[in-house]
Amino acid sequence: MKIGFIGAGKMAQAIISGLDKEKFEVYISSRDFEKTRIIAKNLGVNQAKDNIELAKFVDIVIMSVKPQVMPKVLSEVKDYLEGKLMLSIAAGLTLENLADLTSKQLEIVRIMPNINATIKESTTAICPNELVIDTNLEIAKEIFSSIGQIFQIEEKDFSTFSAIAGSSPAFIYIFIDALSRAGVLHGMPKDLATEIVASTVSASANMLAQSGENPWSLVDKVSSPGGTTVEGIVSLEENRFVASVIDAVTKTIEKDKRL
Ligand code: NAD
Repeated sequence: MKIGFIGAGKMAQAIISGLDKEKFEVYISSRDFEKTRIIAKNLGVNQAKDNIELAKFVDIVIMSVKPQVMPKVLSEVKDYLEGKLMLSIAAGLTLENLADLTSKQLEIVRIMPNINATIKESTTAICPNELVIDTNLEIAKEIFSSIGQIFQIEEKDFSTFSAIAGSSPAFIYIFIDALSRAGVLHGMPKDLATEIVASTVSASANMLAQSGENPWSLVDKVSSPGGTTVEGIVSLEENRFVASVIDAVTKTIEKDKRL
């Protein structure tokens, strides 16, 4: 099966690195031909002469240019997409926007990976339009499963997803930094404290996933009666920790909807 990426930047390269090259024959095309030649060589994939040649040649086109460039690039290639599957990772462009820019008959899947794609641990949302046939949806899922975990969601939930999975790594880094800074306040070197906290955060997420328990039941397990942890929990609540996180997510969603 031939897959073509239009746009070969950070996200396209992360996806391509995870793909099974035995199964998928990969083509890329991008703005700067010379730069793209080097990227293609490094990733061990083929380079198309231009966007149009790529769109004509492949079975699946993955649109991986910036959202503001999408109208121009889609107007270039839309006549060559008939009968193909188009996947778009462009943030903020809805299935309806994408159909308006191409064709009302096109099978389109809207996809939102996150920054962790670079280490093949993306949390990715996926939503097909009503024309996408089951086998094509499975192919789209297979492509994005190779760089992490996928969640098929309703399109109305994309703004929420983009806050709790797209922006949230930034919130989590702030939390990690705050915990390690507290370690520094109490005399520990920053690098060591950060490494300890990162390991704890990652293992706690794995524990949650593997145990199948809900977060508060795990909180209860860490907090012994009259112990140290419950002191910290009460202090977090006095400082509106939960409400602050929810406010931050709500603000992020509101901004996404205004764009
Ligand atoms: P990037 O700037 O690294 O890559 C964009 C690519 O598009 C570049 O290779 C550029 O040369 C190419 N390009 C520009 N104009 C072009 C044209 N006319 N024809 C062909 N190629 C052209 O950006 P990125 O971070 O890889 O983002 C790509 C898409 O992925 C965006 O739509 C973004 O919304 C989406 N996305 C990115 C992330 C992320 O964490 N980076 C997360 C989710 C979604």
